[in-house]
Amino acid sequence: MIQVTSAFDGGAITVQDASRADDIRLALRADVSADFSQWFYFRLAGVRDTELTVHLLNARASTYPGGWPGYRMVASHDQQHWFRVDTAFDGTRLSARHRSVADLIWFAYFEPYSQQRHAVLLAQAQLRPGTRVRTLGLSCKGRPIDVVETGVLDPAAPQVWVICRQHPGETMAEWFAEGLLDRLGDVADPVVTQLLRAARFHIVPNMNPDGSAMGNLRTNARGVDLNRAWVNASADASPEVFHVREAMLAHAPSIFLDVHGDEALPYVFVAGSEDQPHYTAAHRARDLRFKQLLTALSPDFQTVHGYPSGRFRPEMLAMASHWVADRFQCLSFTLEMPFKDNANLPDAAGGWNGARSRRLGAATVGAIHGSLLGQDS
Ligand code: ZN
Repeated sequence: MIQVTSAFDGGAITVQDASRADDIRLALRADVSADFSQWFYFRLAGVRDTELTVHLLNARASTYPGGWPGYRMVASHDQQHWFRVDTAFDGTRLSARHRSVADLIWFAYFEPYSQQRHAVLLAQAQLRPGTRVRTLGLSCKGRPIDVVETGVLDPAAPQVWVICRQHPGETMAEWFAEGLLDRLGDVADPVVTQLLRAARFHIVPNMNPDGSAMGNLRTNARGVDLNRAWVNASADASPEVFHVREAMLAHAPSIFLDVHGDEALPYVFVAGSEDQPHYTAAHRARDLRFKQLLTALSPDFQTVHGYPSGRFRPEMLAMASHWVADRFQCLSFTLEMPFKDNANLPDAAGGWNGARSRRLGAATVGAIHGSLLGQDS
């Protein structure tokens, strides 16, 4: 008898029929208060030495059906090591096959980032020299929205803002935050030493703790997509954005990164504000320099594939990177990592994963250093 459960941190699935191991019929569950679906995270029990076939029957009706071709589910027996499993999309349903070697196996859309790991991340950061953790406000459900601050206190110094996981199902964004914070804690790294003497960092590892706990793909507990709430952020319906925005107005960013995952594109890329009316040649040169630096520092980053530029529409200002670019005229990017893999540097066993997201976060410290302090030779 196989038991399918998802009543845990970040869990999400609907069970239709789990009576046969070779035909486990499941369905994606929508966000708790909104009609988005793509994220899944569930546990199977009673599956030792069992050939499993798991179907997500409603995959085609998900928010990003383009996310399924070429995608492989991740699974884990130990909650530490996550591996990819054979997965096929027939245009309607997503099906994965795997032989379970143990009693329990977890499946997820991407390597999860737990509330417990989030707590440890903050706990370790606060103990580093010159590093503070501050609660900017509370989420709809009363979870803290925490920012990690480190670097020089001079208010005239450049302020670097990095926010992660506005979309809670994009867990790679918090893995990225972990890599960024770990590198900033490395006192033997001269890039870090010089950067922290010249600039101050404000890092929000998880903008959407309610959505993360509830297993949502895109929204908070009130069903609000936070990355569409930056113009009309409200203390009531989108307090997560409201409080971070207030803090940002008090410490105006020189560099802003909003870290995400993209369901369909198998590449790491950034999306900027080049469509905005104010965008100048100087902005273009500044943005190009950042992209060149990150390209040199991480072979996982590239600038060939990404979102197409288009005509600016005022409603785009509801997105964080556009709102920040418009308000502060600073370097402002949405950074996207894949749910699938980096097609330029594929990893058959793991695809894109938490460890690679962490390395990218660490490499980004170098690009920020070069942007703020680098000399053209
Ligand atoms: Zn996103």
